[in-house]
Amino acid sequence: MTLDTILEEIKNAEKIVILTHESPDGDAVSSSLSVMHAVAQLGKKADVIIPDYSKDFKFLPGADKILKESDIQKYDLAIAVDCSDLKRLVGAKEYFINAKKTVEIDHHSVNSMYADLNYVDPASPACCQVLIGMFEYFGIDINKELGTCILAGILTDTGGFQYSGVTPETFEFAAELLRKGVNISEICQKVLRNKTKANCELTKLLYDRMEFLENGKIAISYITLEDNKKTNAQIGDDEGLVEIERDIEGVEVAVLLKEKEGANGFKVSLRSKENVNVSDICFLLGGGGHSRAAGCFISGTLEQAKSRILEVIKQEME
Ligand code: AMP
Ligand code: MN
Ligand code: MN
Repeated sequence: MTLDTILEEIKNAEKIVILTHESPDGDAVSSSLSVMHAVAQLGKKADVIIPDYSKDFKFLPGADKILKESDIQKYDLAIAVDCSDLKRLVGAKEYFINAKKTVEIDHHSVNSMYADLNYVDPASPACCQVLIGMFEYFGIDINKELGTCILAGILTDTGGFQYSGVTPETFEFAAELLRKGVNISEICQKVLRNKTKANCELTKLLYDRMEFLENGKIAISYITLEDNKKTNAQIGDDEGLVEIERDIEGVEVAVLLKEKEGANGFKVSLRSKENVNVSDICFLLGGGGHSRAAGCFISGTLEQAKSRILEVIKQEME
């Protein structure tokens, strides 16, 4: 079974590196740290390499050990978490490609199975929830430190247990973590409720530019590089913006175009409420994600990116 082989690879490896997707969210950072803690219990030290991530996650146990870079040639085993495709390992891809063995642990339904060993469970609302099952199988003690990382990942990917992917097990695991002393209200405050000033400024711009199309079923807005500069926005400061659009009455698909530095185009974030599979839409444009939350990149001007994404959304909504 894959899990037995993964455990064997961890035990056989001297040097292990843990990697995740670009613009890492809470699940990405938390999954990386959770694997680091688990591997430590198996008697191995692993490097976590994340070139840049939101300061919201710096309180997580072990975050002080995260490296921005390391020696590309040195790893026996690379473990990628919360990442559906090799091309999303931006800034970390070289470590993966150069490792002697590769493992990925993920929960995206569209996954290109890019590692030697792929452990993917699309029924899990967060990669951290996939990890719980795996750690239990490995006999890892999910203590307060590890539990804090796991709960932070689950909370961020489920919007605080609110999104449709939540399963009965999510609550059972959360209950178990609370029994271990994990402080849920502190984690919620830090990863869900805390808003930076830049995030508030970007929210104002989001509302100002919001347009409603197709009888109010589509809400669309955008953020440019100039906006990021003016508001002094840092990585993670656009968290939660596209969800504001989705929460509006009558909106079925929410679209946020974010101009991407040095790429001559826009990162598109899509969210849907009930019926539209946004992962399918993003897949058509070379991206991916989940049925209710997905993303892709579209090159060109704002007008070009806008018209392309609207064209595909309208087709999918027919
Ligand atoms: P985002 O809009 O960036 O918050 O992404 C929403 C979901 O879609 C997350 O699960 C991402 O991991 C996934 N996602 C975003 N962009 C891409 C992409 N280009 N390819 C595959 N998955 C993506
Ligand atoms: Mn993620
Ligand atoms: Mn995730």
